[in-house]
Amino acid sequence: MDLITKELLINVLFILLPMLLMHVAYFIKYIYNLEWLKESWIVICPLISIGMCMSFPFSLQEGLTWDLRRIPFLLGFLYGGYRHGLFLLAFVLLFRYIISGVGFYITVCTYAGMAILTSVLSPFFIKMSFKMKMLTSGLTVLISLLITYIASMIMTNNNLTDIMWIEYSLISIIVMLIATFICESINKSFTILEKVSKAEKLEVVSHLAASISHEVRNPLASCKGFIQLSYEKEEHLEIKEYLSFSIKELDKATEIINDYLIFARAAPEKTENLFIFEEVYQVIEIMTPLASRTNVQISFSKIEGDNLYVQGEKKKFQQAVLNIIKNAIEAMPAGGKVTVGMVEKLDFIHLTIIDQGKGMTKKQVNRLGEPYFTTKSKSNGTGLGLMVSFSILQKMGGEIVVKSQEGKGTQFLIKLPMKK
Ligand code: ADP
Ligand code: MG
Repeated sequence: MDLITKELLINVLFILLPMLLMHVAYFIKYIYNLEWLKESWIVICPLISIGMCMSFPFSLQEGLTWDLRRIPFLLGFLYGGYRHGLFLLAFVLLFRYIISGVGFYITVCTYAGMAILTSVLSPFFIKMSFKMKMLTSGLTVLISLLITYIASMIMTNNNLTDIMWIEYSLISIIVMLIATFICESINKSFTILEKVSKAEKLEVVSHLAASISHEVRNPLASCKGFIQLSYEKEEHLEIKEYLSFSIKELDKATEIINDYLIFARAAPEKTENLFIFEEVYQVIEIMTPLASRTNVQISFSKIEGDNLYVQGEKKKFQQAVLNIIKNAIEAMPAGGKVTVGMVEKLDFIHLTIIDQGKGMTKKQVNRLGEPYFTTKSKSNGTGLGLMVSFSILQKMGGEIVVKSQEGKGTQFLIKLPMKK
């Protein structure tokens, strides 16, 4: 085996080993629910890799070395963005400065340039498909190699042959592709794990909902009936007040039980064609009194076209939209505006509900739809509303995308298949 390949193989180990560590770290984070761990590992793993690669490079000649540090560097920037990447840049430059030699200037050119390029790419990279990610990471390595090549041609009178450059480039690109592949599979396995655990929780709730709710709702209804009767006949004011309080509490309990019942039967039982504009309009009318209590205005805009029909069950669809609008109103206790809009896109209707409320963190957005997830006080929130909404909309073939910014507001985008 060629000497370059042999020497650089040790570098490959330094790249793969921290990745294995990252996988373990993800597991620990998942099991013990340590939120800070994931974030910091985006920096720590590449730092370890870079440090090890630079400590055991392939020495070419006085002041010049080859190693694979560019791979953890580029991956760190692409996955972590510039905020995490800047640590890596500072580390690489400092380390290379200490080693000294003309290679330092080549490093400055290559890594500063690549830092800018990958910082710009990072937000797009995270959303790319697997194939595009592989392509992009391969291309970024290629560009970084080109910069290094040109810089070293200008700054040094080295005696490196083209074959050596080709060999170095090939190794770099192959290792980069393998590293990206591993990063992707680690990410994927954890998204699947999170989905499975969410689905498990939903299943437990679903069983509970189906078995108990009915049995509880009927006695609640008769209790309420009797209390109402007593309330009407009672003359003692103090007792009347107690009774009215009991009725309110019973109503709250019934509402929760109803949530469970709707959830257990989220699938439409008798589907009909729903004129979506009309349905949403009715929901807004129901919610307006609640909104005006906290000074919230609801605006509604409709696009042209009479084709805006979806298939579903009237009551359930309205409930689904109502829960989302209710949350939007509740997110703005000091008032504000809820904007409801509709757009027709291909064969889908995009229904958007935007508020200017307190927003959510990424972690909170990920937990939406999970049973009992609420940030509200016990008397205000049950954490069942969105679970119900999501299951109804998903059973209608819909998809929900939530974007939120803390302190700025939240956007719910509901994509529903249009009925032609
Ligand atoms: P609940 O409203 O009973 O708390 P939901 O399932 O309706 O339960 O909502 C779950 C949580 O999601 C809420 O407690 C809130 O923290 C968050 N949430 C939902 N919608 C919004 C929104 N528009 N703005 C901010 N937070 C929201
Ligand atoms: Mg709610």
